[in-house]
This record gives sequence, structure tokens and C-alpha cells, in this order.
Amino acid sequence: MPKIILTDKLNEKVVKILEKAGFEVKIAWDIPKEDLPKIIGEYDAIIVRSDTKVRGDLFDKAINLKVIGRAGVGLDNIDMETALARNIKVVNTPAATTNSVAELALTMVLSSTRDVVKGTCEIKSDPSRFKSMKKELFSSEIDGKTLGLIGTGRIGTSLAVKCKALGMKAIGYDAYVAENPVVEMKLSVDDVLKEADYISLHLPLNKETQHMIGRDVISKMKKGAVLINCARGGIVDEHAAHDALESGHLGYYCTDVFENEPPSSDNPLLHHENVIISPHIGAQTKEGNMRASIQAAERVVEAFKEL
Ligand code: NAD
Repeated sequence: MPKIILTDKLNEKVVKILEKAGFEVKIAWDIPKEDLPKIIGEYDAIIVRSDTKVRGDLFDKAINLKVIGRAGVGLDNIDMETALARNIKVVNTPAATTNSVAELALTMVLSSTRDVVKGTCEIKSDPSRFKSMKKELFSSEIDGKTLGLIGTGRIGTSLAVKCKALGMKAIGYDAYVAENPVVEMKLSVDDVLKEADYISLHLPLNKETQHMIGRDVISKMKKGAVLINCARGGIVDEHAAHDALESGHLGYYCTDVFENEPPSSDNPLLHHENVIISPHIGAQTKEGNMRASIQAAERVVEAFKEL
């Protein structure tokens, strides 16, 4: 009977799926991560979310490991080179949290438009500002505005569907995909920037995209545009974004991610009123977690059948 260890919190249904498929399951999400190398050697498979780092000492001690399941998309917490070299299969669940991330990006579209965070902070700190804030926070509607996507894969497309249902136009650029059933595709990033009121990033972080959204790109956005980053921190040059907020060229920077997480307290973005922040929670929903957990378990079972 193959033995599998679950080292990050997953939906309980996973246990049933794995046991039904003949696995002996060890729930280890309450075990301190530093203790995992002591026990990992017994296991044929592991399922992680993002907290467990399958690399270094943990990987060295995982002498029986054959399959790694990642409940989620990013594989940055797994040493893929070692996995490949040791012929260990790695399976993930790229589509499980698509809707969760797209809904967070939609939240950023709406809350920047109506200055919800600014209103909340001001009124909580000084309730007497209620009436003056009512005048100050005179905003606009998203109906009729243009969403510009950089990266029109799963999440970008899901956001486009939602925004179009709310009356927006969706345009986009993707370096590798020329057509999309719901997004009007443009030939360059610049073509998106000159038209979009909201620019939402939905592409991976890699050498090509590191600091892709820098001073030059931001300067080509419409004055007052909203930049949304629910992808990865390093894609946006945070200093360039801050300077553009200061000059008023950028209306809002809404971000779920930072180049360094947690951001340092002197990161100027933390102190700008036109920055909306969430703490890398794009995929963190009950529904997304359930789908990711179940799909990860199913993929691990499939991967074992193919061994
Ligand atoms: P996806 O692979 O379906 O789509 C990514 C798209 O980006 C692809 O169509 C690809 O062709 C395009 N792309 C790649 N390089 C590009 C470039 N240089 N310029 C323009 N387009 C480029 O991925 P997805 O599921 O839509 O996820 C998008 C990103 O969201 C992921 O890479 C990940 O970094 C991020 N993400 C964040 C969270 C979160 O918690 N905030 C959760 C899940 C995913």
C-alpha cells in the first residue's frame, strides 16, 4: 500500500479519495515544517499547497518519493530540477483557483472605482469627515469602461467574462495566444495601454516578465488608469508604480502580491492612499481550496497508475 503525506491544510475530502484509491494517508499539516525531513523518508507521495517547500533537506531525505501533488498553480515551492533528475512526477491543479483569483481582480476593479478602502479608512479614523468624504469620493461607473488584460489565459479570460457582464469592454494582449473568444485581442501591450481604463496583469513571473511593468510601460497608460496585479509581485516595478501614483498619472495600484513578501514597512506603496492591498489571497477561498485539494488528490492517484 503506497504511503502519502499531506503537509499543508487541504479539504478533508482528499483523505477519502486517497484511501479509496488504496493509499495509507498521513495528515501532517499540524506538524512543524522543520520536523518533516525526519519522517518524509517513509512516504511514496506528498501533497502540498504553498507552505511546504519541497527542496533542500526535505527533498534529500525523501528517498522513497515518487509523486508530488501541488494543490494550486505555482511550482515555485518545489525544486523542479531535482524532481526531474530523480524522475519524480509533479502534478498541480492549474484551473482550480482561476475563479477565485478572477473574483479578487474584479473586487479590485470595483473597490478602486468607488474608493471603498479610502472611504473606510477615513471614516474609521475620523467619523466627522463623513459628509466631506461624501463630496470627495464622487467617482464613476465601470459600465462602458475598458478592461485591458496583459495575459489572456485562464484567469484573464475569467475576469473578462465577469467584467463584460457588468458592461465593460475587454481588450487584451498575450505574447503566445492570438485569439480569445471573449477578449478583443491586440497586437501589442501598447495597443492595450492606450485604450484601457483598468489594466489587469494575468501572466507568469519569469525572466521575460520581471519588471515588465516599469516606468516606460506605465507612462503609456491613460492618465488616471488603474493597474491591478493579482499575478506576481516582481512583474511590476514597485518604485515606478509609486512614482506614477505620486505624479497622478496612475489612478490606483491594486495589488495582491509584492516583489518581497511580506513587504518591508518602508515600502512606499504601503503608505500611499491610492494603493489597495490584499495579502496574496487570490487563491484563498473555500471553493478554490476544495477544488484544488480534490483535483490534486485525483491527479496524484492518476500519476501513480502511470508509474
Ligand atoms: P495561464 O497560463 O492560463 O495564463 C497566463 C497567460 O500569460 C498565458 O496565456 C500566456 O501566454 C501569457 N503570457 C506569458 N508570458 C507573457 C508575456 N510576456 N506577455 C503577455 N502574455 C504572456 O495562467 P493563469 O491561470 O491565468 O494564471 C496567471 C498568473 O496568475 C499565474 O502565472 C500566477 O502567477 C498568477 N496567480 C496568482 C494567484 C494569487 O494568489 N494571486 C493565484 C494563482 C495564479
